[in-house]
Amino acid sequence: MSANDSFRRTKIIFTLGPATESEAMLEQLLHAGADIVRLNMAHAKHDWTRTVIRRIRAVSKRVGREVAIMMDIKGPEIRTGDVSAPIELKAGEIFDFTVRPGMDAGQGGGAEEVRSVGVNYQDLAKDISVGDTVLVDNGLLRLEVLEKNDARIRCRVLIPGELKSRRHINLPGVKVNLPSFTEKDRADSIVGLEEGIDFLALSFVREAKDIELLRAFLAEKKSKVRIIAKIEDQSAIQNLNEIVAACDGLMVARGDLGIECPFEELPVIQRRAVRTCIAHGRPVIVATHMLESMISQPVPTRAEITDVANAVYELADCVMLSGETTIGRYPLECVKMLDSISRRIERETGDEWRPDAVFTGERMKVLKSAIVLANELPNSKLVTFTRHGFMAQGLALLRPAHSPILAFTPSMEVFRQLRLLRSVEPHHMPLASDPNDTIEHAIAMLQRIGRIAPGDKLIIATDILASDRLIDSVQLRTVR
Ligand code: PEP
Repeated sequence: MSANDSFRRTKIIFTLGPATESEAMLEQLLHAGADIVRLNMAHAKHDWTRTVIRRIRAVSKRVGREVAIMMDIKGPEIRTGDVSAPIELKAGEIFDFTVRPGMDAGQGGGAEEVRSVGVNYQDLAKDISVGDTVLVDNGLLRLEVLEKNDARIRCRVLIPGELKSRRHINLPGVKVNLPSFTEKDRADSIVGLEEGIDFLALSFVREAKDIELLRAFLAEKKSKVRIIAKIEDQSAIQNLNEIVAACDGLMVARGDLGIECPFEELPVIQRRAVRTCIAHGRPVIVATHMLESMISQPVPTRAEITDVANAVYELADCVMLSGETTIGRYPLECVKMLDSISRRIERETGDEWRPDAVFTGERMKVLKSAIVLANELPNSKLVTFTRHGFMAQGLALLRPAHSPILAFTPSMEVFRQLRLLRSVEPHHMPLASDPNDTIEHAIAMLQRIGRIAPGDKLIIATDILASDRLIDSVQLRTVR
């Protein structure tokens, strides 16, 4: 029997919150196959962050499944200020966003007093234009800009509703000049680096420069943490190619994207983003609202099942849970649901669209030959050895049709980062000085854990010693 049966290619990320932070629940989620835990710093205090990172590491050890930790930093965000009581905005009402408290905003000339709320970004009036749309509280409230001065932005309410304190503001199509990596992001990241996180997800990435800034910060801290760029607005879509090229992985953050872009564009953007990532050899995460109804119901809607299936058909690396596992009533069921939908759809994807990856050297062509061989052979498994994760990433981007990629690394950090990659199953093992010994050790280990069975074909992509030179090689071995 092939041991591929137990294998899921699509990786599962869940966001930690009150519903999942207990040791008992973490243990169950790891057993259920979660690969990466996300910490959303929009809602996290530093003490809590340190405590849960240590807890995740301890539970991982106990369960024998080392998961990766992704810290998601908030990035630039515009919010309304405090209101003493919720304001009921009426359709057609004239309403002000005040940007310079204390400055005379002037009046509009009407007899009625115009109601207002403050915002946390002083230069908003500079960035915004008459006719622009202001969306508040995840798009629940919609306003149109009528006029502005240095102190306030006067709007008309198009979609009415209740405005509460500190609500998130989205400005579709507006280029906002806030810094991409804020003081809060810096402080949060330092806590994450001290506690040994594996990924930093940067929110509202608008251009490659945003990633370069974060990379410079990580270099200064001598950190090997990988950067995930969250694309959430129209600037990111315009600059998609340069963002993908600059990052280590991309998140299609559909929550904000669905507000910042026309809603019917969302599936088009998702598909384009996934394909661009695969073409550039970057892992890609499809995030948000995948099983939203399971926040309160034990089963998903048919549309949600199909949405998850679509991400798997598109050959995304990861699917992600947010509210479902932070505050939801059924977090474990959500992870199991993603697991079973992914496994089922993966059995269908063998003949799907294959990416036309951007090949940048001979080594990639050698890896491609390994994939061609693997796709030809039933019961085949790809095996590779990787110090920094690049060999595994190269194989993963080529999306083998049915073979897992068994990736051996001597580094625990790299082991955890490999959790992000579609089809990659990480194994932790020291590499011997002679590459052939390394191969023998890996085969012995796979036999010991029952991961390979007699008759399995191993396609080994590695460098080997030829006389005194290391050369790239692809070998085919049959397990005896
Ligand atoms: C999103 O907007 O889809 C997302 C993942 O970001 P956040 O949860 O930080 O708003």
